[in-house]
Amino acid sequence: MPAPVICWFRQDLRLSDNPAWTAACKTKSRVIPVYILDDENAGPWKMGATSRVWLHHSLTALDKSLAGNLLLLKGRAEDILPKLAKDHGASKIFWNRCYEPWRIARDSRLKDTLTDQGIKCESFNGSLLWEPWDIKKQDGTPYRVFTPFFRKGCLSANPPRAPLPAPQNPVLFPTNKTTSEKLNLLPTKPRWDTPMLSHWTVGEAAAQIRLKEFIEHRLKGYKDGRNYPARNNISRLSPHLHFGEISPNQAWHASIESGIKNHAENDLDCFHSELAWREFSHSLLYYNPALPEEPLNKKFTSFDWNTPDPDLLEKWQKGQTGFPIVDAGMRELWQTGYMHNRVRMIVASFLVKDLRYHWRVGEDWFWDTLFDADLANNAASWQWVAGCGADAAPYFRIFNPTTQGDKFDPQQEYINKWAPDSHQIKPILDHAKARDAALEAFKVIK
Ligand SMILES: Cc1cc2nc3c(=O)[nH]c(=O)nc-3n(C[C@H](O)[C@H](O)[C@H](O)COP(=O)(O)OP(=O)(O)OC[C@H]3O[C@@H](n4cnc5c(N)ncnc54)[C@H](O)[C@@H]3O)c2cc1C
Repeated sequence: MPAPVICWFRQDLRLSDNPAWTAACKTKSRVIPVYILDDENAGPWKMGATSRVWLHHSLTALDKSLAGNLLLLKGRAEDILPKLAKDHGASKIFWNRCYEPWRIARDSRLKDTLTDQGIKCESFNGSLLWEPWDIKKQDGTPYRVFTPFFRKGCLSANPPRAPLPAPQNPVLFPTNKTTSEKLNLLPTKPRWDTPMLSHWTVGEAAAQIRLKEFIEHRLKGYKDGRNYPARNNISRLSPHLHFGEISPNQAWHASIESGIKNHAENDLDCFHSELAWREFSHSLLYYNPALPEEPLNKKFTSFDWNTPDPDLLEKWQKGQTGFPIVDAGMRELWQTGYMHNRVRMIVASFLVKDLRYHWRVGEDWFWDTLFDADLANNAASWQWVAGCGADAAPYFRIFNPTTQGDKFDPQQEYINKWAPDSHQIKPILDHAKARDAALEAFKVIK
């Protein structure tokens, strides 16, 4: 019997357009598919409670596609994989690259251990359209401004790889059957996850259906419609993309045909540019590993943020601020594990500009409550709103939550859906006064 090989699934929980899985299957050896929950290495950035729920169901779906052969393990990957390889006599390990600083550090340690053990490792790009090191300015430094990053960097580089089909009839190495329950990812009582999940279908097949449905029915009008939370002009692919149930290449290429056929070239360009914001955030994280903790603009390092008042913070978290668009967004998040992008910007501005709480307070809350919580996108977006990130909103841009609501939810459909009672709540602050105070406080950054 030839030695088996290992395919290590990480943020690529799919079988189609999965370069590591395709390469493992191509060896014609028996493949051991494995997922490892590595909370220890993740440290403070171990997955939040809501993401864990998604992960549970995503692993269940992947395991089903692998006829129940996905091995699920828990612990430090650099302890587990060398032992797994040794126990089964595996000769090679395949994986797709991740870009979180803790994963990069761990993978490099692991690679050294495996190489010493005589086991070959091969890694691939399965999560990004372009590797961060392929998109750089002419002087060799990474971009800090989005538009040139996308228009000059990405669009003049090699086009994104065409998606790979799922390998046919992979030969799987039979392992001891494990199920996602083993990882203890679901909450114990109360089961808050059940109503939340009713808004979603998790897994690769569901992600493909969502993409198809979006490009056929909602891509046209996306450029304008994506700003209005009551319209359904967005893809809601973010949790699927985060967990790799679908690849950005699949979204990029599938949207081209439909965009052209439906004369929606501007919408297509806008959708591609949003996918490119994801690339930009990953590039920022790759080149600035402290992005989740420290402001990119060092002038903010000693900014005097207000100490959060637990009562006011809870009102923001639970959607009880008395500002209807903020409350609607925070309740959409609490109930569905998702919030519309326009509203994310409004609630974030409210936290960092009106309440003047540190952007990390909001970053942490989103980390725990979003299904799509993503280290790169979350950190880059919070820093963008706070004004300390790359290509960030200037410090003096302070959203007025009332006029934002009037503009982007003119019929109050979104507000009525999520927070119909918010109009009756006494506002927790006076926006005009909070704005003046913020402008005064942020002057030190000027
Ligand atoms: C404060 C704040 C925090 C955020 N935290 C996250 C997060 O943790 N995870 C996350 O995936 N996105 C985050 N975003 C970005 C954005 O809000 C979501 O990606 C988007 O709302 C997801 O909805 P969608 O899939 O319908 O997006 P669509 O409009 O359909 O866009 C398609 C895809 O492009 C990517 N994308 C779109 N907008 C952005 C953006 N501004 N930055 C990076 N990628 C983008 C996403 O992968 C998204 O799924 C955050 C934004 C803000 C303002």
